[in-house]
Amino acid sequence: MPSLSKPRKPKKTRKPLRVTCEKCGKRRQKAITTNPITNQKRKSPKKICQECHEKWIDYRFFDSSFGQWLRYAFKRQCQNSIPEDTADLRDLIHLWKKYVHAKGLSFEGEKVTKKYDYQLCHIDPVKQCDGKIGCLTASNLMIAPETVNRELSNLPYPFTSKSSVPIGEAITDDNFKAICRERYDIKLLIKEFNFVISTKKQLNGYSFGGVDSNQVLSMELNRLGYDVNHMINHNDAALRESLVNEVYETFFKVGGVIATGLLAQYGQIIGKGSIEYDFTLPIHKVEQNKENKAMKEKMLYGTFDTYTG
Ligand SMILES: [Zn+2]
Repeated sequence: MPSLSKPRKPKKTRKPLRVTCEKCGKRRQKAITTNPITNQKRKSPKKICQECHEKWIDYRFFDSSFGQWLRYAFKRQCQNSIPEDTADLRDLIHLWKKYVHAKGLSFEGEKVTKKYDYQLCHIDPVKQCDGKIGCLTASNLMIAPETVNRELSNLPYPFTSKSSVPIGEAITDDNFKAICRERYDIKLLIKEFNFVISTKKQLNGYSFGGVDSNQVLSMELNRLGYDVNHMINHNDAALRESLVNEVYETFFKVGGVIATGLLAQYGQIIGKGSIEYDFTLPIHKVEQNKENKAMKEKMLYGTFDTYTG
């Protein structure tokens, strides 16, 4: 029997918790993470050191498919023509997600195929001759069929969003990350959009999205602030496509008002719901789902005890 009089060990003063970091393998103090929404700090639930934790956040943003696209897109821009702050970048991420969804992707082994060829087209072109540049912002971009973009690429678009800015300092591989870290709350955006990096192996057999160009056209005009109530719903696919492309070209050459008028002429009236984007942030969708579930449970298990049918 253990002796009851065994002297107790003197209480230790609390030392910072050290763990063997699962990323770098070093024995280090556990990372303190900050919730970007509430600003609350807590010890990371993972065995990870501060340095690796910061690296991991960087990785989730910059190595995501959006991060890679952004780096490529920023190379054609300058420091004046990129999203100004976190709110601007949030709008761009929303648009980029709609763009990827519209293309529709299928993953099969190493192969990724898209259902539709869309591009994110600048309304004010990137290259302009008067020392100005078109911005990489949601209000200066439009999801359009690649064919439309190719046909117009050699012409200066006569219609502009009037949001061009004077050309500023360049963005290179060397300053890209630093510019992003300084301007944008990367941690917040990761949380809001739930940036996850999936390997092709994990995505194998998975497919999503794919939106016809007639629907994309109406949705895009709506997003850009035009009052659109129509969609071109012609049964003949070739005719439908040529009418859609004509409206797109009218948009880039003449402007949104005339394009919207043409769309009303060619299309049929349709409920706003099917031609309006849902810009709910993924983080809020999760919360909504939780709320819906709680509501369902309430309905199933009482609480409505005053209800008499
Ligand atoms: Zn580490």
